[in-house]
Amino acid sequence: MTGDGTRAVRAGLPEAEPYGPPMPGPVLASHFHLPGDPAVAPYGYGREGNPTWTGLERAIAELESPGQEAHAVVFPSGMAATSAVLTGLLRPGETAVLPSDGYQLLARVRDRLAESGVHVRTAPTDDDAQLAALAADDRDGSRPGAPRLLWLETPANPGLDVCDIRRLADAAHGRGTLVAVDNTLATPLGQRPLDLGADLSVASGSKALNGHGDVLLGYVVTRDAELAAVIRRWRTTTGAILGPMEAWLAHRGLATIHLRVERQRTNALAVAAALREAPDVTGLRHPGLPDDPGHAVAARQMRSFGCVVSFVLPDREHAERFLAALRLVDDATSFGGVRSTAERRGRWGGDAVPEGFVRLAVGVEDPEDLVADVRRALAAARTEVSPGTRGAT
Ligand SMILES: *Cc1c(COP(=O)(O)O)cnc(C)c1O
Repeated sequence: MTGDGTRAVRAGLPEAEPYGPPMPGPVLASHFHLPGDPAVAPYGYGREGNPTWTGLERAIAELESPGQEAHAVVFPSGMAATSAVLTGLLRPGETAVLPSDGYQLLARVRDRLAESGVHVRTAPTDDDAQLAALAADDRDGSRPGAPRLLWLETPANPGLDVCDIRRLADAAHGRGTLVAVDNTLATPLGQRPLDLGADLSVASGSKALNGHGDVLLGYVVTRDAELAAVIRRWRTTTGAILGPMEAWLAHRGLATIHLRVERQRTNALAVAAALREAPDVTGLRHPGLPDDPGHAVAARQMRSFGCVVSFVLPDREHAERFLAALRLVDDATSFGGVRSTAERRGRWGGDAVPEGFVRLAVGVEDPEDLVADVRRALAAARTEVSPGTRGAT
C-alpha cells in the first residue's frame, strides 16, 4: 500500500489525460442532461449527486479506508453529517449510547433524539467500562433489544479525553449495535475508525480535513453499502447538500493534508512542552503527551495526535490577557487550519470547562516562532493587569 502523502495527492482524482488539468474544475449544475431512464443515470438532478462531490467522496473514502472499499457521503457541515447518522438511523423506541461530553452541539442532538422518543444513555468519553456496559445493556428502554447505535468521539472536543474504539466496538458488536466515531479531531490520517472496528466514521471536514478555514463540510464513511444508501437518502430527503465549489476547494486542499497533519503534530507537541513549563498552566491535555491520561489508548489507535492542546489558566481575566497577547495565534474558534487559533472555550457557555480553559489549535507555522509567541504571551498575561492591546508592542 502507498504512503499517506502519495495517496493524498491523488486521492479521488481521475487518471491523467493528455491536455487535461491535474484536477477537474467544479461542476456547477443544478441539473444535468438526462435522456431516458433516471434510475440508470449517474447524475440527473443536483440534489442527488454531482461529479465534484463524487471526486471528494472517493478521496475521503480512500483516506479513511485505504485498501478496502468504502462509501463516503459528503454534507454541508459536520452537524449535517452527525444528524444524518443520529436522526437518519435511529427510530423512536430504539436506544442510543452517546458520550456525555464531546462537541457542544451533540448535547442538542441528544435532546432532539430524546424528544423524538429515542432512549438516550450517556457516559463520559474517558470511562470505557461504563460506555461498554451501556452498549451491552439490553434491559434498557421500553422494548427489549440491544442499543441500535453507540456514538463515540475520540479525542473528544474540547476536553481531549480518549476512548478505546476497538474495545468498545467489540463490546457493541456482540449485541449487534452499530458503532459510529466522530473522527474530526484526528483526521483520517491520524486515526482510522473503520480499521478499528467502527461501522461509521463521521467528521466535520471544516476543521483539519479542509485545513484552510474557508469551507464548512462534513462526511460519513462506511464500508456497508446499505448503510451508505440510508445516509445518502437522508441527504436527498433533507436537502442538506454541499455546494460544488466548497467540495472542490476541500478536495484541492486535501492534497497537502499529510504535510499539514505532520507539521501540526510536531507543533502541538512543541507548544505542549512549552506550556508544561509555565507555572500558571494546569490541566494540560494533549493525547500525544506520554503522561496524558489518554496516551496509552491514543498511542495504540492513533497514528498522529492532532493539532489541539487544551489547558487551564488561573481565571477568565488571565486567559483573556493571554489570548490578547498572542501575535501568531488568532483568537478564533474552530481548529485544524494552517493558522494557529486559540479561544477561551467558556465564552460559549456550552462546555463544562473552567473559566480559564483555553483550547489552542496549532497551525503549520514554524515551531520555534509559535513556541516563542506562546511563551511571551504567557509572561505578558502574568504581569499585565488589564487585557493587553493586540499587536501594540
Ligand atoms: C466542529 C465539530 C463538529 C461540527 O462540525 P461543523 O462542520 O462545525 O458543523 C462536530 N464534531 C466535532 C468534534 C467538531 O469539532
